[in-house]
Amino acid sequence: MTERKNVYLYYKPSEELEPKIEELKNIGRKYGYKLVSDVKEANIIASIGGDGSFLQAIRKTGFQEECLYVGLNDKKLGFYTDFNLNDFERIESALQSNFVEVLRYPTLEVTVDGVQKFECINECSIRSNIIKTFAIDVFIDDLYFETFRGDGMVVSTPTGSTAYNKSLRGAVVDPRLESMQLTEISSLNNNEYRTLGSPLILNSDRELVLKIVQDGNDHPIIGVDNEALSIRHSHEVRVKVSDKVIKTVKMKDNSFMHKVKRNFL
Ligand code: NAP
Ligand code: MN
Repeated sequence: MTERKNVYLYYKPSEELEPKIEELKNIGRKYGYKLVSDVKEANIIASIGGDGSFLQAIRKTGFQEECLYVGLNDKKLGFYTDFNLNDFERIESALQSNFVEVLRYPTLEVTVDGVQKFECINECSIRSNIIKTFAIDVFIDDLYFETFRGDGMVVSTPTGSTAYNKSLRGAVVDPRLESMQLTEISSLNNNEYRTLGSPLILNSDRELVLKIVQDGNDHPIIGVDNEALSIRHSHEVRVKVSDKVIKTVKMKDNSFMHKVKRNFL
């Protein structure tokens, strides 16, 4: 597949998975792959489970740019999972042949209050944590753009565009387009508050600044992918397309468009 041979497995052990993982290890050994228990020694990180597990694997291993991430699942194939643990023939043919390609997925860099930096591969979400609305002043680069009032806002990557973003009627974006997309969660739109109302796709050289209006309900939850940040009180969230990409492998007949079709149509 590549010259990378040191594999770190990320998964939640279960009785059901154990025999499949044993078989995976046997096949790996046959082709010269070595399991490592320290992620620092890995150059391949394999996540076993759904898209949620893949997101977790990336976060828990610290978004390793030098590593190749591979998603395997024993159930349905999602957007980050390319290999089925019930189809060892296909896994073996991927290891033998040139039927795989390396993909580079854009990620977002999120900075909260100027100091804390986080990456995400799906999205950064900001949501009210109570039943009341809260307000955000939205800046694009240095331009004051709008004041949002409602449940929250989501900034997603292209690969995250099929997740939370899609539920908010955002567009599905080809991951070859280095960009980010801003969507609203239930905005108030009346004579007092006015927002764009439609999803907004921004080029990778832009910076989005979301300033939480300090009006009493200014303790929203900030999420990066499937994890909530433990920041209780924040003022400003800056989001830009990161210089970092996540490298993954895929079978040549399993492109982003195949996945969109398989999952939605
Ligand atoms: P979850 O709430 O258990 O799952 C949400 C669903 O989204 C699962 O079916 C998951 O697939 C799928 N998913 C994850 N990433 C995706 C992607 N890039 N494209 C298409 N579908 C995707 O949470 P989770 O499994 O930990 O996933 C976290 C993600 O859930 C967040 O990053 C956010 O995008 C999404 N989310 C969506 C909503 C919504 O649509 N209203 C609300 C909150 C969060 P698997 O079953 O394969 O894991
Ligand atoms: Mn404050």
